[in-house]
Amino acid sequence: MHKIASRLTVPQLCTTGETLSRVGVAQLRRQSGASCQQSAFRYGSTDRPEMPPCDFKPVEYKDISKQRMMEIRKQFCHPMTMKVTYYKKPVFIHQGHMQWLWDVDGRRYLDMFAGVATVSVGHCHPKVTAAAEEQLRRLWHTTNIYVYPTLHEYCEKLASRFPDPLKVVYLTNSGSESNDLAILMARLHTGNSDIITLRGSYHGGSPQTMGLTSNTAYKYPITNGFGCTNTMCPDVFRGPWGGSRCRDSPVQAARDCGCAQGQCMANDQYIGQLKETFATSVSSQIAGFFAEPIQGVGGAVQYPKNYLKEAYKLVRERGGLCIADEVQTGFGRTGSHFWGFQGHDVIPDMVTMAKGIANGFPMGAVVTTPEIAASFTKGFHFNTFGGNPMACAIGSSVLDTIEEDGTQQISHDVGTHLLTGLAKLRDKYEIVGDVRGKGLQIGVEMVKEKASKEPLPPADMSEIFEDTKDMGVLIGKGGLYGQTFRIKPPMCITREDTDFFLDVFDRSLQNYVARR
Ligand code: PMP
Repeated sequence: MHKIASRLTVPQLCTTGETLSRVGVAQLRRQSGASCQQSAFRYGSTDRPEMPPCDFKPVEYKDISKQRMMEIRKQFCHPMTMKVTYYKKPVFIHQGHMQWLWDVDGRRYLDMFAGVATVSVGHCHPKVTAAAEEQLRRLWHTTNIYVYPTLHEYCEKLASRFPDPLKVVYLTNSGSESNDLAILMARLHTGNSDIITLRGSYHGGSPQTMGLTSNTAYKYPITNGFGCTNTMCPDVFRGPWGGSRCRDSPVQAARDCGCAQGQCMANDQYIGQLKETFATSVSSQIAGFFAEPIQGVGGAVQYPKNYLKEAYKLVRERGGLCIADEVQTGFGRTGSHFWGFQGHDVIPDMVTMAKGIANGFPMGAVVTTPEIAASFTKGFHFNTFGGNPMACAIGSSVLDTIEEDGTQQISHDVGTHLLTGLAKLRDKYEIVGDVRGKGLQIGVEMVKEKASKEPLPPADMSEIFEDTKDMGVLIGKGGLYGQTFRIKPPMCITREDTDFFLDVFDRSLQNYVARR
């Protein structure tokens, strides 16, 4: 029924990784016999966004075939691996360098998702790789029952990035594990059980954190998350209240705002909802409140500027601890600050982190106050890999690299440029409902039409997603209804790269509309 416009299907890349875009069809065909021997591309258009140049040359891929990988994936990997696989035509990744990825056929991709907001300073960043190699030759593993330099150097360095009284570090291996420990510490410290989170949040998939995570897609039909309650997410785009000045972002929701200067009716309403949760769903004394400074999996949802500040006050009045889940927002990703909570002008009682902490090496941490940490020593807890020398050496090098490469400033500057560009696409296309975020933690919420805000259906999202990938850019998806594109590249990205992404995204939206 829908008219199918000539589709843009693949990035115009030769095996050396050089782009051949903006070259006429005839010229491409002439070249295809020579420098692009492996190109089996369909050329539907003569003018496509040009990928910025990159002089890094990946090694030639000589390992098992794509077909064999898929056979093994289907036969020997847990079916969940198949279920979560991105793209109808998956990307077979072979090598990475900074913001770039190469597939097994030598095609280059701009990585705007960073392995789910995890590659913080760049794929195989030379400095971090050198630190890993050096440690690899010295000591792979020992545990914290012994004393070794990497653990201590790292804990001191990480603690120095926090305001008082957040000065005690416990190292883990993942975000879920960090949040599990934070739940445990909050309960031990307060003697209370109830924990509150925001709807749409993602805090992990372990049996405990599944209770914190307030997104049905990640829940199983079993009893989980005893003592976990959620409250309305103060989502100023999709929620019942919101205006054009609520959030801390270069781009505001396209909603009217009748509030006087310094007032935020939406914030008052959402805080009212939290008060109602206190009045109806938990005991009078609670253990804690978890919130991501900007929701990650939830689709870069931002709250009204004062929400966390007021929520923290109310939580503390009820004996609870305030926990900031910085698994996605930490390490400078939001641009304005090193930690997302600083953008809300609050100091949490505990901060959990993972992902970007070690640029993709498995690592996590919980940072808290000496008093809260002391409650944990009532019992005995041991973690084989938490504080592993490899992780600590890499984490330490990541902290240095963030400083030396100025990645927080890049997040701010390039992120603001990107957000501004995306806002233009929101104004251009009826299906782009909202653009939001800060720094390089960005969400683009897609709708059937702006008036109804009905989420763009998954099949439609997939079309745009696949097309964007075929033009050489990897992005992510999230949101409660899978309706939000998530953009969180390695923080070494340039303005030129984001302009390329904007061109590609614009083109895939145009293609989508043209097919209707
Ligand atoms: N918290 C947040 C905010 C996350 O985004 C994630 C992972 N997406 C987690 C916790 C869980 O981290 P992990 O997958 O390392 O267990």
